[in-house]
Amino acid sequence: MCAERPNRRIPLSEPQLGGNEWAYVKECLDTNWVSSSGPFVDRFETEFAAYLRAPHAVAVINGTAALHAALRLAGVEIDDEVLVSTLTFIAPANAIRYLGAKPVFVDAEPKSWQMDANLVADFVTRDCRFEGGRLINLASGRRVKALLPVHILGHPVDMAPLLEIARAYDLAVIEDAAESLGALYRGRPVGTLGTLGCFSFNGNKTITTGGGGMIVTADSILGKRARYLVTQAKDDPLRYIHKEIGYNYRLSNVAAAIGTAQLERLAEAVAAKRHIAARYAQAWRELPGLSALEEASWASSAFWLSAILLEPSQFGLDRDALMSALQGAGIEVRPLWQPLHLSEAHAGAQALGGEVAEDIWARVVTLPSSAGLSSEDQDSVIRAVSEACRGRSKEGGKAS
Ligand SMILES: *Cc1c(COP(=O)(O)O)cnc(C)c1O
Repeated sequence: MCAERPNRRIPLSEPQLGGNEWAYVKECLDTNWVSSSGPFVDRFETEFAAYLRAPHAVAVINGTAALHAALRLAGVEIDDEVLVSTLTFIAPANAIRYLGAKPVFVDAEPKSWQMDANLVADFVTRDCRFEGGRLINLASGRRVKALLPVHILGHPVDMAPLLEIARAYDLAVIEDAAESLGALYRGRPVGTLGTLGCFSFNGNKTITTGGGGMIVTADSILGKRARYLVTQAKDDPLRYIHKEIGYNYRLSNVAAAIGTAQLERLAEAVAAKRHIAARYAQAWRELPGLSALEEASWASSAFWLSAILLEPSQFGLDRDALMSALQGAGIEVRPLWQPLHLSEAHAGAQALGGEVAEDIWARVVTLPSSAGLSSEDQDSVIRAVSEACRGRSKEGGKAS
């Protein structure tokens, strides 16, 4: 196939900046409020909190910083263990390590691809002892302090069983909702179900501030402490008195101005992504060996990225062959992340299962899913996938 517009690629996930971003940034420049305080920081936090119906929201420089601070706020200390999804972008596991704590990787559940709560339940009941309010991992002798479920690809984790385990064993729950702003778990916004929730406004996320993040919590002590820790733990606003080691993680007013404008169109963006996902899912039903990640019974997904799962024996191509066919047609696609229990960066960490994540990783391709994706561009993606499927025997999986 000869691409009609050979120089134009269809991006995986690009931001939509056509709203009030310019006007609000101009306002920052005109008023000299450019740094890490200012009216847009307050406004972004207030409006973000209202959107999620979360009592407290603290804006920070990126999602990884949000996770780092949230883990510290949750009381995670050196040599503690934190149970985290293995099938995720690496940021949450890195944040655990920043504190000298240890990740324990939890396999995915095959239908939703999210953290498998059954493995967590088995681990806490069979492989740990609970004494004096502390959960101790029998294998390592270390304290298990928190759960860090990651809502991947816009889809919520099944939170109820995890929250129940957390209550029973006095564990903190930090939700990584970086990919799932706008998703609902049994009607409640993800990021507001655990002790603390973390979001990212990186350029490829559902809304962006260039780079940015947010910590949300219902606990007013934690909310106050979050603001304190990410502002260098200032104990006196004027006199440079500090009792603790804090971080310089506050978001700038310019970034918050972009975020405020982005937030105005969040509902629209989520609706567009849900529509894109539905259209892909419909198309894959007509091709052999393809399926979409569909919503679990508990979920209203934000469908940050639409993904297809291949059954190579039926589809005729494997993941890498499909990816190169699509790349050859000018379509930006990606695999999922290497499951973290296989990552050299976290070598030696304990893992609860892992085979399910490995299987999903080997067979999934993520597709262009920008909120602004035109239906013509989406047609091109669908056409390229069906052509790859039809051409599989003669082309051996290569783009033509
Ligand atoms: C993007 C992302 C992050 C990190 O966000 P940054 O803003 O890039 O630091 C954390 N967790 C997950 C699952 C992500 O996808």
